[in-house]
Amino acid sequence: MLNDKDRIFTNIYGFNDPGLAGARRRGDWDDTKALLALGREKIIAEIKASSLRGRGGAGFSTGMKWSFMPKELGERPHYLVINADEGEPGTCKDREILRHEPHKLIEGALIASFAIGAHATYCYVRGEFRREAEALQKAADEARAAGLIGKNACGSGWDFEFHVHLGAGAYICGEESALLESLEGKKGMPRMKPPFPAAVGLYGCPTTVNNVETIAVAPIILRRGAAWFAGLGKPNNTGTKLFNVSGHVNQPCTVEEEMGIPLKVLIEKHASGVRGGWNNLLAVIPGGSSVPMIPRAICETVNMDFDSLREVKSGLGTAAVIVMDTSTDIVKVIARLSKFYMHESCGQCTPCREGTGWLWRMMERIAIGDAELGEIDLLDQVGRQIEGHTICAHGDASAWPIQGLIRHFRPEMERRIKERTGANTTKAA
Ligand code: SF4
Repeated sequence: MLNDKDRIFTNIYGFNDPGLAGARRRGDWDDTKALLALGREKIIAEIKASSLRGRGGAGFSTGMKWSFMPKELGERPHYLVINADEGEPGTCKDREILRHEPHKLIEGALIASFAIGAHATYCYVRGEFRREAEALQKAADEARAAGLIGKNACGSGWDFEFHVHLGAGAYICGEESALLESLEGKKGMPRMKPPFPAAVGLYGCPTTVNNVETIAVAPIILRRGAAWFAGLGKPNNTGTKLFNVSGHVNQPCTVEEEMGIPLKVLIEKHASGVRGGWNNLLAVIPGGSSVPMIPRAICETVNMDFDSLREVKSGLGTAAVIVMDTSTDIVKVIARLSKFYMHESCGQCTPCREGTGWLWRMMERIAIGDAELGEIDLLDQVGRQIEGHTICAHGDASAWPIQGLIRHFRPEMERRIKERTGANTTKAA
């Protein structure tokens, strides 16, 4: 359990002033000049030593990502792009930072930009987050007026601009290369990789794309030291994390906790338990809608970190926990998610464009039992022909929820089909 003294987001609920004066009282912008004076290499070394992993879903080492940028500034400028698109169903953590802790993000952007040699950051905010974009812009204006950003930011000698850009609400623009396309004014369609953004990113220039939460925790890691951050959580899964708990719980919440907290504790302590009690739990989607669900038996013991969830064939993703009790039509839930992924496919790759529609139509039929038993295997096969065969991870995201369903609730799918065909009706698992 996280001690209050180790809490990073001390105003995540907005109980206090989100403005510059309030942020300074919480320790933000405290001698940022001295942090920049550490120099690029030391900053990147500290972030590496903290073992911070990206908070946007993929969990890649942040320090490593920063180190991929060219060491010297060439003819092309460098850019930092912050992904504030936050469109994954169930996920609502970054918007709380934008609303209530925007100065943490802007200070982090200055430090990260300096570390990668960028004089400009673009923060790409999800189209629906109008109020959040306004809050962020207001904070950026305050920081500029106080000399914290702009020319000679914080008196460091480093010029730094921070731009807020509002998207138009397409889910796929949360994929980093689609985000860059959109930022350039084009249709939000993922790019083929390689080249990766560190070589060819925004406007063809070296670019690092990081999640909001990742950037917002950078300043405190430098202030309190990599060892402090690495001492929280567990090896390779360090630090604190913002978790969202939604669905069939008594008190849905966003909460900062130590990485690796047991899922059961997260639900029972912070969300006041499952509606109707723990035994009424059916399944949990632990990391935003694209990761495979896990049934109650696994929820009993699993910890909320990258490695633990991968061991049970799921993922931490965005750490958005969607709780479903026994009143849930679990097959219909996944059919609904399949429809979402079909709708949000950008259509560039055939397996994703055509396959997501296949998956959705089959899921709708299976949800009402209008299928053959063999179609469950066919469904799995179709998913596996999409997974790993597309330009971006959207194809994988469309297949994984179905894989989780088949893995853990196949008897329920079979029951529906058998009941409809009138043969060998069996009781649901
Ligand atoms: Fe577009 Fe889907 Fe291909 Fe991604 S996987 S590029 S969303 S068609």
